[in-house]
Amino acid sequence: MEKQADTVSPFKLGLENYIGISPKIDLVIIQKLADRFAGQQFLHINSTKSGGGVAEILQRMIAILTRLGINARWEIIEGDARFFDITKKIHNSLQGMPEQISEDMWQHHFEINKKNAERLNLDADAVLIHDPQPAPLVEFKKNGTWIWRCHIDISNPSAGIWGSLKDHIKKYDATIFSVSKFARKLPLDRFIIPPAIAPLSDKNRELSGDEINKALGKLNLPTDKPIILQVSRFDRFKDPIGVIKAYKLVKKYNDCRLVLAGSPATDDPESDMVLNEVKEYAGNDPDIHILQLPASSNIEINALQRAAAVILQKSLKEGFGLTVSEAMWKGKPVIGGATGGIPLQIIHGVTGFLVHSIDGAAFRIRQILNNSEMAKRMGENGREYVRKNFLITRQIRDYLAVWYIMENKGKSIIEF
Ligand code: UDP
Repeated sequence: MEKQADTVSPFKLGLENYIGISPKIDLVIIQKLADRFAGQQFLHINSTKSGGGVAEILQRMIAILTRLGINARWEIIEGDARFFDITKKIHNSLQGMPEQISEDMWQHHFEINKKNAERLNLDADAVLIHDPQPAPLVEFKKNGTWIWRCHIDISNPSAGIWGSLKDHIKKYDATIFSVSKFARKLPLDRFIIPPAIAPLSDKNRELSGDEINKALGKLNLPTDKPIILQVSRFDRFKDPIGVIKAYKLVKKYNDCRLVLAGSPATDDPESDMVLNEVKEYAGNDPDIHILQLPASSNIEINALQRAAAVILQKSLKEGFGLTVSEAMWKGKPVIGGATGGIPLQIIHGVTGFLVHSIDGAAFRIRQILNNSEMAKRMGENGREYVRKNFLITRQIRDYLAVWYIMENKGKSIIEF
Protein backbone atom coordinates (compact mmCIF):
# COMPACT_ATOMS: atom_id res chain seq x y z
CA MET A 1 0.00 0.00 0.00
CA GLU A 2 1.27 3.44 -0.86
CA LYS A 3 2.54 5.32 2.19
CA GLN A 4 0.61 8.49 2.89
CA ALA A 5 2.71 11.61 3.06
CA ASP A 6 2.75 13.19 6.50
CA THR A 7 0.55 16.24 6.61
CA VAL A 8 2.80 19.21 7.03
CA SER A 9 1.20 22.35 8.36
CA PRO A 10 1.68 25.29 6.02
CA PHE A 11 1.96 27.58 9.02
CA LYS A 12 4.71 28.42 11.45
CA LEU A 13 4.74 27.36 15.03
CA GLY A 14 2.54 29.77 16.93
CA LEU A 15 0.15 30.18 14.04
CA GLU A 16 -0.72 26.51 13.71
CA ASN A 17 -3.00 26.66 16.71
CA TYR A 18 -5.15 29.27 15.02
CA ILE A 19 -6.00 27.14 12.00
CA GLY A 20 -9.76 26.66 11.91
CA ILE A 21 -10.26 29.55 14.34
CA SER A 22 -8.89 32.67 12.65
CA PRO A 23 -9.52 33.60 9.01
CA LYS A 24 -6.89 31.77 6.93
CA ILE A 25 -5.91 34.85 4.95
CA ASP A 26 -4.77 36.56 8.17
CA LEU A 27 -2.49 33.62 8.95
CA VAL A 28 -1.02 33.67 5.43
CA ILE A 29 -0.24 37.38 5.61
CA ILE A 30 1.24 37.11 9.12
CA GLN A 31 3.48 34.30 7.99
CA LYS A 32 4.74 36.29 4.99
CA LEU A 33 5.44 39.38 7.07
CA ALA A 34 6.97 37.44 9.95
CA ASP A 35 9.44 35.92 7.48
CA ARG A 36 10.46 39.44 6.45
CA PHE A 37 10.95 40.54 10.06
CA ALA A 38 12.51 37.36 11.48
CA GLY A 39 15.18 38.23 14.04
CA GLN A 40 14.29 41.91 14.09
CA GLN A 41 13.47 43.78 17.29
CA PHE A 42 9.86 44.81 17.95
CA LEU A 43 9.57 46.75 21.20
CA HIS A 44 6.28 47.57 22.95
CA ILE A 45 6.07 49.98 25.89
CA ASN A 46 3.08 50.73 28.10
CA SER A 47 2.45 51.71 31.71
CA THR A 48 1.04 48.64 33.45
CA LYS A 49 1.68 44.92 33.53
CA SER A 50 -1.90 44.05 34.39
CA GLY A 51 -5.35 45.57 34.48
CA GLY A 52 -6.98 47.01 31.41
CA GLY A 53 -7.06 46.11 27.78
CA VAL A 54 -3.54 47.10 26.72
CA ALA A 55 -1.82 44.74 29.14
CA GLU A 56 -4.33 42.05 28.24
CA ILE A 57 -3.38 42.24 24.56
CA LEU A 58 0.37 42.59 25.05
CA GLN A 59 0.67 39.51 27.23
CA ARG A 60 -0.54 37.32 24.42
CA MET A 61 0.82 39.21 21.46
CA ILE A 62 4.45 39.18 22.63
CA ALA A 63 4.29 35.40 23.04
CA ILE A 64 2.94 34.88 19.53
CA LEU A 65 5.41 37.29 17.91
CA THR A 66 8.28 35.55 19.68
CA ARG A 67 7.20 32.14 18.43
CA LEU A 68 7.07 33.61 14.95
CA GLY A 69 10.79 34.37 15.20
CA ILE A 70 10.47 38.10 15.81
CA ASN A 71 12.51 39.48 18.64
CA ALA A 72 9.56 40.99 20.53
CA ARG A 73 10.02 42.79 23.84
CA TRP A 74 7.57 44.36 26.27
CA GLU A 75 8.72 47.06 28.69
CA ILE A 76 6.71 48.92 31.30
CA ILE A 77 7.47 52.46 32.41
CA GLU A 78 7.84 53.12 36.12
CA GLY A 79 6.63 56.24 37.89
CA ASP A 80 5.77 57.65 41.30
CA ALA A 81 2.24 58.20 42.62
CA ARG A 82 2.25 61.78 41.34
CA PHE A 83 3.09 60.60 37.84
CA PHE A 84 0.13 58.19 37.72
CA ASP A 85 -2.12 60.85 39.20
CA ILE A 86 -1.10 63.18 36.39
CA THR A 87 -1.42 60.54 33.66
CA LYS A 88 -4.90 59.61 34.89
CA LYS A 89 -5.85 63.29 34.63
CA ILE A 90 -4.37 63.44 31.13
CA HIS A 91 -6.32 60.28 30.23
CA ASN A 92 -9.58 61.69 31.62
CA SER A 93 -9.18 65.03 29.93
CA LEU A 94 -8.29 63.48 26.57
CA GLN A 95 -11.60 61.62 26.89
CA GLY A 96 -13.38 64.94 27.44
CA MET A 97 -13.49 65.37 31.23
CA PRO A 98 -12.39 68.87 32.32
CA GLU A 99 -9.09 68.68 34.27
CA GLN A 100 -6.32 71.17 34.99
CA ILE A 101 -2.84 70.07 33.94
CA SER A 102 -0.33 72.72 34.93
CA GLU A 103 3.03 73.35 33.26
CA ASP A 104 4.68 71.81 36.33
CA MET A 105 2.63 68.61 35.92
CA TRP A 106 3.59 68.30 32.25
CA GLN A 107 7.20 68.78 33.32
CA HIS A 108 6.91 65.94 35.85
CA HIS A 109 5.34 63.74 33.16
CA PHE A 110 8.35 64.48 30.96
CA GLU A 111 10.96 64.00 33.71
CA ILE A 112 9.62 60.56 34.63
CA ASN A 113 9.73 59.56 30.98
CA LYS A 114 13.30 60.82 30.80
CA LYS A 115 14.26 58.60 33.74
CA ASN A 116 12.59 55.64 32.05
CA ALA A 117 14.47 56.39 28.83
CA GLU A 118 17.73 56.11 30.78
CA ARG A 119 16.63 52.83 32.38
CA LEU A 120 15.13 51.09 29.35
CA ASN A 121 16.80 49.73 26.25
CA LEU A 122 15.04 51.68 23.51
CA ASP A 123 17.09 50.12 20.76
CA ALA A 124 14.74 48.33 18.32
CA ASP A 125 13.75 48.13 14.66
CA ALA A 126 10.13 49.02 15.43
CA VAL A 127 8.80 50.60 18.61
CA LEU A 128 5.12 50.76 19.55
CA ILE A 129 4.42 53.19 22.39
CA HIS A 130 1.00 52.58 23.91
CA ASP A 131 -1.12 55.51 25.12
CA PRO A 132 -0.19 58.93 26.57
CA GLN A 133 1.71 57.80 29.69
CA PRO A 134 4.96 56.88 27.87
CA ALA A 135 4.40 59.16 24.84
CA PRO A 136 7.36 61.53 25.63
CA LEU A 137 9.80 58.61 25.26
CA VAL A 138 9.94 59.52 21.57
CA GLU A 139 12.17 62.45 22.55
CA PHE A 140 14.86 59.83 23.29
CA LYS A 141 14.45 57.88 20.07
CA LYS A 142 17.70 56.57 18.63
CA ASN A 143 16.74 54.42 15.69
CA GLY A 144 13.92 52.35 14.19
CA THR A 145 10.34 53.16 13.28
CA TRP A 146 8.46 54.75 16.18
CA ILE A 147 4.69 54.45 16.27
CA TRP A 148 2.33 55.94 18.84
CA ARG A 149 -0.57 53.56 19.48
CA CYS A 150 -3.52 55.37 21.03
CA HIS A 151 -6.11 53.12 22.67
CA ILE A 152 -8.40 55.81 24.05
CA ASP A 153 -11.17 57.96 22.63
CA ILE A 154 -9.52 61.30 21.90
CA SER A 155 -12.19 62.50 19.49
CA ASN A 156 -13.24 65.30 21.82
CA PRO A 157 -10.46 66.20 24.26
CA SER A 158 -10.56 69.05 26.76
CA ALA A 159 -9.10 72.22 25.31
CA GLY A 160 -5.34 72.57 25.50
CA ILE A 161 -4.55 69.03 26.65
CA TRP A 162 -4.21 67.52 23.22
CA GLY A 163 -2.15 70.54 22.13
CA SER A 164 0.50 69.77 24.79
CA LEU A 165 0.62 66.06 24.09
CA LYS A 166 0.71 66.65 20.36
CA ASP A 167 4.16 68.25 20.65
CA HIS A 168 5.47 64.77 21.44
CA ILE A 169 3.20 62.86 19.06
CA LYS A 170 4.43 64.90 16.08
CA LYS A 171 7.90 63.38 16.58
CA TYR A 172 6.66 59.85 15.86
CA ASP A 173 6.85 58.27 12.41
CA ALA A 174 3.20 57.16 12.51
CA THR A 175 0.18 56.80 14.77
CA ILE A 176 -2.43 54.10 15.21
CA PHE A 177 -5.96 54.76 16.46
CA SER A 178 -8.70 52.20 17.21
CA VAL A 179 -11.54 54.04 15.48
CA SER A 180 -11.36 56.46 12.53
CA LYS A 181 -13.12 59.27 14.35
CA PHE A 182 -10.41 59.21 17.05
CA ALA A 183 -7.68 60.07 14.52
CA ARG A 184 -6.69 63.67 15.27
CA LYS A 185 -5.25 65.88 12.57
CA LEU A 186 -1.51 65.22 12.46
CA PRO A 187 1.28 65.79 9.98
CA LEU A 188 2.18 62.08 9.92
CA ASP A 189 0.72 58.76 8.81
CA ARG A 190 -2.34 57.65 10.74
CA PHE A 191 -3.57 54.06 10.71
CA ILE A 192 -6.88 52.74 12.05
CA ILE A 193 -6.57 49.35 13.75
CA PRO A 194 -9.12 48.09 16.27
CA PRO A 195 -7.83 45.91 19.12
CA ALA A 196 -8.65 42.23 19.37
CA ILE A 197 -8.96 39.31 21.77
CA ALA A 198 -6.88 36.15 22.12
CA PRO A 199 -9.19 33.17 21.59
CA LEU A 200 -6.81 30.61 23.10
CA SER A 201 -5.98 32.48 26.29
CA ASP A 202 -7.42 31.44 29.65
CA LYS A 203 -9.69 34.49 29.40
CA ASN A 204 -11.33 33.27 26.21
CA ARG A 205 -10.69 29.56 25.62
CA GLU A 206 -13.47 27.00 25.85
CA LEU A 207 -14.22 25.89 29.43
CA SER A 208 -15.85 22.65 30.50
CA GLY A 209 -18.99 22.73 32.65
CA ASP A 210 -16.86 21.54 35.56
CA GLU A 211 -14.36 24.35 35.15
CA ILE A 212 -17.18 26.91 35.06
CA ASN A 213 -18.84 25.51 38.18
CA LYS A 214 -15.56 25.34 40.04
CA ALA A 215 -14.74 28.96 39.21
CA LEU A 216 -18.21 30.19 40.20
CA GLY A 217 -18.04 28.18 43.42
CA LYS A 218 -14.74 29.85 44.24
CA LEU A 219 -16.45 33.21 43.78
CA ASN A 220 -19.43 32.10 45.93
CA LEU A 221 -21.79 33.00 43.14
CA PRO A 222 -25.10 31.10 43.04
CA THR A 223 -26.53 30.29 39.60
CA ASP A 224 -30.17 30.10 40.68
CA LYS A 225 -31.14 33.29 38.82
CA PRO A 226 -30.12 34.78 35.48
CA ILE A 227 -26.89 36.72 35.79
CA ILE A 228 -26.39 40.21 34.38
CA LEU A 229 -22.66 40.89 34.17
CA GLN A 230 -20.32 43.79 33.60
CA VAL A 231 -16.56 43.18 33.76
CA SER A 232 -14.67 46.45 34.07
CA ARG A 233 -12.15 48.40 36.03
CA PHE A 234 -13.93 50.62 38.57
CA ASP A 235 -13.85 53.74 36.47
CA ARG A 236 -16.57 56.37 36.02
CA PHE A 237 -16.35 56.11 32.24
CA LYS A 238 -17.52 52.47 32.59
CA ASP A 239 -20.66 53.75 34.37
CA PRO A 240 -20.97 51.07 37.08
CA ILE A 241 -23.60 53.15 38.91
CA GLY A 242 -25.64 53.36 35.71
CA VAL A 243 -25.46 49.57 35.48
CA ILE A 244 -26.86 49.24 39.02
CA LYS A 245 -29.65 51.69 38.18
CA ALA A 246 -30.56 49.66 35.08
CA TYR A 247 -30.52 46.44 37.14
CA LYS A 248 -32.86 48.01 39.72
CA LEU A 249 -35.34 48.84 36.96
CA VAL A 250 -35.15 45.31 35.58
CA LYS A 251 -35.46 43.73 39.00
CA LYS A 252 -39.01 45.07 39.39
CA TYR A 253 -40.11 42.59 36.72
CA ASN A 254 -37.39 39.94 36.32
CA ASP A 255 -35.67 38.18 39.19
CA CYS A 256 -31.95 38.24 38.47
CA ARG A 257 -28.50 38.82 39.92
CA LEU A 258 -26.09 41.58 39.01
CA VAL A 259 -22.37 40.92 38.99
CA LEU A 260 -19.88 43.79 38.71
CA ALA A 261 -16.42 42.31 38.41
CA GLY A 262 -13.33 44.47 38.41
CA SER A 263 -9.71 44.31 39.38
CA PRO A 264 -7.39 47.24 40.03
CA ALA A 265 -4.92 48.52 37.46
CA THR A 266 -1.61 49.79 38.83
CA ASP A 267 -1.80 52.91 36.66
CA ASP A 268 -5.31 53.86 37.90
CA PRO A 269 -5.25 55.73 41.23
CA GLU A 270 -9.00 56.52 41.19
CA SER A 271 -10.36 52.99 41.28
CA ASP A 272 -10.68 52.71 45.08
CA MET A 273 -12.77 55.86 45.23
CA VAL A 274 -15.08 54.66 42.46
CA LEU A 275 -15.34 51.21 44.04
CA ASN A 276 -16.48 52.78 47.33
CA GLU A 277 -19.11 54.84 45.53
CA VAL A 278 -20.36 51.69 43.79
CA LYS A 279 -20.54 49.71 47.04
CA GLU A 280 -22.41 52.50 48.73
CA TYR A 281 -24.89 52.79 45.88
CA ALA A 282 -25.45 49.01 45.78
CA GLY A 283 -26.45 49.06 49.48
CA ASN A 284 -27.19 45.67 50.96
CA ASP A 285 -29.05 44.05 48.06
CA PRO A 286 -27.99 40.37 48.34
CA ASP A 287 -28.41 39.93 44.58
CA ILE A 288 -25.76 42.52 43.72
CA HIS A 289 -22.29 40.97 43.72
CA ILE A 290 -19.35 43.33 43.57
CA LEU A 291 -16.33 41.17 42.91
CA GLN A 292 -12.81 42.50 43.30
CA LEU A 293 -10.74 39.97 41.48
CA PRO A 294 -6.97 39.60 41.52
CA ALA A 295 -5.33 40.51 38.23
CA SER A 296 -4.75 36.86 37.36
CA SER A 297 -8.44 35.90 37.42
CA ASN A 298 -8.67 35.00 33.75
CA ILE A 299 -10.49 31.70 34.17
CA GLU A 300 -12.88 33.26 36.67
CA ILE A 301 -13.78 36.05 34.24
CA ASN A 302 -14.12 33.55 31.41
CA ALA A 303 -16.48 31.48 33.60
CA LEU A 304 -18.51 34.53 34.63
CA GLN A 305 -18.94 35.54 30.99
CA ARG A 306 -20.02 32.02 30.07
CA ALA A 307 -22.46 31.80 32.99
CA ALA A 308 -24.09 35.17 32.34
CA ALA A 309 -27.44 35.56 30.60
CA VAL A 310 -26.71 39.12 29.47
CA ILE A 311 -23.43 41.00 29.38
CA LEU A 312 -23.22 44.77 29.63
CA GLN A 313 -20.53 47.27 28.76
CA LYS A 314 -22.47 50.39 29.53
CA SER A 315 -19.55 52.76 29.03
CA LEU A 316 -20.00 56.49 28.63
CA LYS A 317 -16.61 56.72 26.86
CA GLU A 318 -14.68 53.75 25.58
CA GLY A 319 -11.56 53.37 23.47
CA PHE A 320 -12.59 49.94 22.24
CA GLY A 321 -13.95 47.77 25.03
CA LEU A 322 -12.29 44.37 24.75
CA THR A 323 -14.88 43.01 27.14
CA VAL A 324 -17.47 43.36 24.38
CA SER A 325 -15.62 41.04 22.00
CA GLU A 326 -14.78 38.72 24.89
CA ALA A 327 -18.47 38.35 25.65
CA MET A 328 -19.50 37.98 22.00
CA TRP A 329 -16.86 35.29 21.51
CA LYS A 330 -18.63 33.33 24.26
CA GLY A 331 -21.89 33.50 22.32
CA LYS A 332 -23.51 36.09 24.56
CA PRO A 333 -25.74 38.97 23.50
CA VAL A 334 -24.07 42.21 24.58
CA ILE A 335 -25.62 45.53 25.56
CA GLY A 336 -23.14 48.34 25.12
CA GLY A 337 -23.05 52.10 25.45
CA ALA A 338 -23.12 53.62 21.95
CA THR A 339 -19.69 55.18 22.30
CA GLY A 340 -16.12 54.89 21.02
CA GLY A 341 -15.21 51.43 19.79
CA ILE A 342 -18.34 49.68 21.06
CA PRO A 343 -20.43 50.35 17.90
CA LEU A 344 -17.64 48.73 15.85
CA GLN A 345 -18.37 45.50 17.66
CA ILE A 346 -22.09 45.49 18.39
CA ILE A 347 -24.35 45.43 15.36
CA HIS A 348 -27.54 46.81 16.84
CA GLY A 349 -30.29 44.19 16.85
CA VAL A 350 -27.99 41.55 15.33
CA THR A 351 -25.23 40.82 17.86
CA GLY A 352 -26.67 42.80 20.75
CA PHE A 353 -27.96 46.29 21.45
CA LEU A 354 -26.43 49.75 21.59
CA VAL A 355 -27.93 51.95 24.29
CA HIS A 356 -27.84 55.64 25.14
CA SER A 357 -29.44 55.67 28.60
CA ILE A 358 -30.17 53.73 31.77
CA ASP A 359 -33.79 53.22 30.69
CA GLY A 360 -32.58 51.94 27.33
CA ALA A 361 -30.21 49.49 29.00
CA ALA A 362 -32.96 48.22 31.32
CA PHE A 363 -35.37 47.79 28.40
CA ARG A 364 -32.83 45.77 26.39
CA ILE A 365 -31.83 43.62 29.38
CA ARG A 366 -35.48 42.64 29.84
CA GLN A 367 -35.90 42.02 26.12
CA ILE A 368 -32.99 39.56 26.20
CA LEU A 369 -34.02 37.89 29.48
CA ASN A 370 -37.53 37.35 28.11
CA ASN A 371 -36.52 36.01 24.72
CA SER A 372 -34.06 33.15 24.89
CA GLU A 373 -34.32 32.31 21.18
CA MET A 374 -33.34 35.83 20.20
CA ALA A 375 -30.54 35.83 22.78
CA LYS A 376 -29.13 32.61 21.36
CA ARG A 377 -29.27 33.88 17.79
CA MET A 378 -27.56 37.15 18.71
CA GLY A 379 -24.86 35.25 20.57
CA GLU A 380 -24.14 33.07 17.55
CA ASN A 381 -24.00 36.11 15.27
CA GLY A 382 -21.65 37.83 17.70
CA ARG A 383 -19.22 34.94 17.84
CA GLU A 384 -18.92 34.83 14.05
CA TYR A 385 -18.49 38.58 13.89
CA VAL A 386 -15.62 38.42 16.36
CA ARG A 387 -14.04 35.51 14.49
CA LYS A 388 -13.88 37.57 11.31
CA ASN A 389 -12.89 40.90 12.80
CA PHE A 390 -11.60 40.90 16.34
CA LEU A 391 -9.19 38.03 16.90
CA ILE A 392 -5.58 38.71 17.83
CA THR A 393 -4.26 37.27 14.57
CA ARG A 394 -5.94 40.12 12.67
CA GLN A 395 -4.32 42.63 14.97
CA ILE A 396 -0.86 41.07 14.58
CA ARG A 397 -1.40 41.07 10.82
CA ASP A 398 -2.18 44.79 10.95
CA TYR A 399 0.75 45.76 13.19
CA LEU A 400 3.22 43.90 11.02
CA ALA A 401 1.66 45.47 7.92
CA VAL A 402 2.09 48.97 9.38
CA TRP A 403 5.72 48.22 10.19
CA TYR A 404 6.23 46.92 6.67
CA ILE A 405 4.53 49.90 5.05
CA MET A 406 6.56 52.36 7.12
CA GLU A 407 9.83 50.63 6.21
CA ASN A 408 8.95 50.63 2.53
CA LYS A 409 7.61 54.15 2.24
CA GLY A 410 8.21 55.73 -1.12
CA LYS A 411 9.05 52.49 -2.86
CA SER A 412 6.95 51.98 -5.96
CA ILE A 413 6.60 48.24 -5.50
CA ILE A 414 5.57 46.75 -2.19
CA GLU A 415 6.12 43.03 -2.21
CA PHE A 416 4.24 41.10 0.44
N1 UDP B 1 -10.39 42.74 33.06
C1 UDP B 1 -9.92 41.81 33.94
N2 UDP B 1 -10.32 41.86 35.23
C2 UDP B 1 -11.19 42.79 35.66
C3 UDP B 1 -11.66 43.77 34.77
C4 UDP B 1 -11.24 43.72 33.47
O1 UDP B 1 -9.16 40.92 33.58
O2 UDP B 1 -11.53 42.74 36.82
C5 UDP B 1 -9.98 42.65 31.68
C6 UDP B 1 -11.13 42.44 30.72
O3 UDP B 1 -11.46 41.08 30.65
C7 UDP B 1 -10.53 42.99 29.44
C8 UDP B 1 -9.64 44.12 29.93
O4 UDP B 1 -9.36 43.85 31.30
O5 UDP B 1 -9.72 42.02 28.81
C9 UDP B 1 -10.35 45.46 29.84
O6 UDP B 1 -10.22 45.94 28.57
P1 UDP B 1 -11.23 47.00 27.98
O7 UDP B 1 -10.76 47.32 26.61
O8 UDP B 1 -12.62 46.46 28.08
O9 UDP B 1 -11.16 48.26 28.95
P2 UDP B 1 -9.95 49.13 29.54
O10 UDP B 1 -9.79 48.65 30.95
O11 UDP B 1 -8.74 48.92 28.71
O12 UDP B 1 -10.49 50.52 29.51
